[in-house]
Amino acid sequence: MSDRSGPVLVPILGDQLTRTLASLRGQTKENTVILMMEVRDEATYVRHHKQKIALIFSAMRHFAAELREAGWQVDYVALSDKDNAGSFTGEVARAVERHDPAKIRIVEAGEWRVQQAIEEWPGKFACAVEILCDDRFLSSIAQFRDWAEGRKHLTMEHFYREMRRRTGLLIKAGKPVGGEWNLDKQNRESPAGRLDAPPRPQFPPDAITHEVIALVEEHFADHFGALENFGWPVTREQAEQAANAFFAERLEQFGPYQDAMVHGQDDLFHSMLSTSINLGLLDPLDLCRRAQQAYDDGKAPLNSVEGFIRQIIGWREYVRGFYWYCMPELAHANALGASRPLPAFYWTGETDMRCLADCVRATRDNAHAHHIQRLMVLGNFALLAGIDPRQVQEWYLAVYADAYEWVELPNVAAMVLYADGGRLATKPYAASGNYINKMSDYCGKCRYKVSHKTGPDACPFNPLYWHFMHHHRERLESNHRIGRIYATWDKMGEDKQRDYLDSAEAVLKNL
Ligand SMILES: Cc1cc2nc3c(=O)[nH]c(=O)nc-3n(C[C@H](O)[C@H](O)[C@H](O)COP(=O)(O)OP(=O)(O)OC[C@H]3O[C@@H](n4cnc5c(N)ncnc54)[C@H](O)[C@@H]3O)c2cc1C
Ligand code: SF4
Repeated sequence: MSDRSGPVLVPILGDQLTRTLASLRGQTKENTVILMMEVRDEATYVRHHKQKIALIFSAMRHFAAELREAGWQVDYVALSDKDNAGSFTGEVARAVERHDPAKIRIVEAGEWRVQQAIEEWPGKFACAVEILCDDRFLSSIAQFRDWAEGRKHLTMEHFYREMRRRTGLLIKAGKPVGGEWNLDKQNRESPAGRLDAPPRPQFPPDAITHEVIALVEEHFADHFGALENFGWPVTREQAEQAANAFFAERLEQFGPYQDAMVHGQDDLFHSMLSTSINLGLLDPLDLCRRAQQAYDDGKAPLNSVEGFIRQIIGWREYVRGFYWYCMPELAHANALGASRPLPAFYWTGETDMRCLADCVRATRDNAHAHHIQRLMVLGNFALLAGIDPRQVQEWYLAVYADAYEWVELPNVAAMVLYADGGRLATKPYAASGNYINKMSDYCGKCRYKVSHKTGPDACPFNPLYWHFMHHHRERLESNHRIGRIYATWDKMGEDKQRDYLDSAEAVLKNL
């Protein structure tokens, strides 16, 4: 047994790259050893996109260098260290041997699986273990639970209004600026013609990132995704530059074209900041304040600024609270009993459906696709085709550079697949080809005809939509937001209905 007079061991996980992290606050540099670990378990528990692994390891290495420069003692375990234990718990055990700490001080993990492991540490290690709340989120897990407890519907809009009041963002004299809380209806401009969005800044790999890219090619060569386009911000300075460019060049149009999709234009007016926010390189509240400032200065309209703030203090905070409130059940939820295997084209992009092919191409090239591509193309297809939620979840968690289970799982299981039975979404986000046609330029050059409802040339989303509605009628008919469509279905008559169902079955058979 040690005399417990050793240093404080502060493990910092890969998505905790924040200088003001709760576990560092109040610590002295002399009496603290920061532990950072690249471990195989984390890099492989799903087969992450190559850019995602490169991004996280590179950002970690840059952050370790920044901490060292600031005078902190950092014990950094690289993936290739020959004694690397391969897991967080294994590496903390080795660090305890090396440093004989008086205490381990760590901020709670973002993911359930990792948090479960951390909670076992007090029984595993002789020193004290202090687990701190992650106060980089504006709403703690306990605050969300208090809000959610006893509510039948966990409506995001109600949560969002509370967050607006709590932060004072876009609030004047207790009322929403502009008179309305939510300008979602002004976030749906169709792209009609080509949109010219300024390119986002790229950050070409430096020596550290090149080293990490070589490591990824060596250890994870068979993982999905291209590395050639790697240009993510890997340091705080770069993330700030990316944020500056967004506020200066794209925020203004962000609102109107938030839901638009244009073939080959991957970023449009989106911020592309999720990777930096999720890693801890950017502070979400600070970004929201900057957006509000842009509105106050007359540099961006209210629908853009409110839309951006809603995504962050609304959706981002909400899904994080929802995740912890609904875990571990959420990971296995399958209210619609979906069981089809994930089609191979989610990996290869080889499909004649032009919208899906482009979204998979963007995903492969950039480890990114924007919200409506994730929700209304890739997600909508998985919902309508009844793909097994576990396989869909695993895919999303693997392919996006910003994907951590706390944010991916609620979006996929609850928002996209309705697998939670409707706790998050008031209705399934199911749509026919019409929606995609309205919000994108995909359909014009597609091999399928969006105007054909059935038959071999029909846009597959069309018959799949009615097939889905027909099969889930019992559950959905009483839903006040969607139930009315059954009157349309009933009016079609049996022949038309049979046409739809047969066409859908033909699509599903060929997946
Ligand atoms: C099926 C599906 C899976 C998703 N998986 C992830 C994921 O793994 N990681 C992730 O960070 N986001 C995820 N999202 C949310 C959203 O698609 C991404 O945050 C966004 O596309 C990131 O790009 P951006 O930074 O340009 O976002 P912008 O459109 O510029 O939005 C600004 C910010 O708002 C936040 N945000 C927006 N929408 C959401 C949302 N629904 N949930 C949480 N935060 C949101 C993000 O922090 C984002 O950076 C998912 C959405 C869907 C529908
Ligand atoms: S026609 Fe259908 S499959 Fe083709 S791009 Fe449009 S929505 Fe996608």
